[in-house]
Amino acid sequence: MFISEIFSSKKGPVFSFEIFPPKREYPIESIYETIEELVTLDPDFVSVTYGAAGGTKDRTVEIAGYIKKRWGKPPLAHLTCIGAHREDILRILDELSALEVKNVLALRGDPPKDGPAEGGDFKYAKDLVHFIREQRPDVFCVAGAAYPEGHVEAPSMACDLINLKKKVDEGVSFLITQLFFDNELFLSFRDVARSLGIGIPITAGIMPVLNAKQISRMVSLCGASIPSALAHLIARYERDPKGLHEAGLEYAINQIKGLIREGVDGIHLYTMNKPEVAKRIMAEL
Ligand code: FAD
Repeated sequence: MFISEIFSSKKGPVFSFEIFPPKREYPIESIYETIEELVTLDPDFVSVTYGAAGGTKDRTVEIAGYIKKRWGKPPLAHLTCIGAHREDILRILDELSALEVKNVLALRGDPPKDGPAEGGDFKYAKDLVHFIREQRPDVFCVAGAAYPEGHVEAPSMACDLINLKKKVDEGVSFLITQLFFDNELFLSFRDVARSLGIGIPITAGIMPVLNAKQISRMVSLCGASIPSALAHLIARYERDPKGLHEAGLEYAINQIKGLIREGVDGIHLYTMNKPEVAKRIMAEL
């Protein structure tokens, strides 16, 4: 099933979970229990990241195929194009298609930390979207990433939005945002996107803050700003990890409730492979 059909048929927000493949030193089956627990919560789809943790790229296809075959849930396979050649991408697309995985999140990916990516046939995610649409028309529903606070490399928010519109125009069916902690930023981003003619569903990426280390890592990786209410919580529970965990969960739940009140198209939960967190959040909603 194309995930775009869920967005057009479901009343109310589409709920989705994101997982990442286990590292190479662990068997692939080590994620199966996590998937089972997540699927039991009845998300509309489950997305599987690609390569972000290093050395796990080949596992994304297999895990997405497993979700489809074992659980019948639509998987969304992430796919990055930086440094990739056309034939690599075609091979992966055909592997996905053979496993009946029909939804792809088309991403550029990040250049390696030690310098620019070598070679490759693609510059931006929009080139990957174009390639998928051109080479495998009607086989995949293609999603794209969006950044409510602007992408870290973009010279300005306006510039990033113009680039986003170009990507969408290549044939993106829905967007998933980078995590954010301030709903106002998401809502104004959504307003501007709509005014630019981006009419496709925009699903909000939410990651609960569970510990102090995770926050500083996230902020340095994606540049998400910390609103004062969250900064207060972090300071208040500085010496109380359990308290911070609880307060972080509550903050995420309130964020999601606020977004639902604002008629958000979807909520995409970065589960960090922790089903207990997803369980708690879904129960509260
Ligand atoms: P793009 O849309 O190509 O944008 C990248 C930059 O290029 C932006 O600054 C944009 O403004 C600029 N740009 C775009 N088009 C043009 C143009 N025509 N001219 C000039 N500038 C342009 N990474 C992984 O490695 N694996 C994953 O599984 C993964 N999953 C993700 C899931 C989500 C929901 C999100 C939000 C991000 C994810 N990422 C993942 C991270 C992502 O790969 C990085 O954020 C990456 O730096 C940008 O990818 P993109 O697809 O947004 O790129």
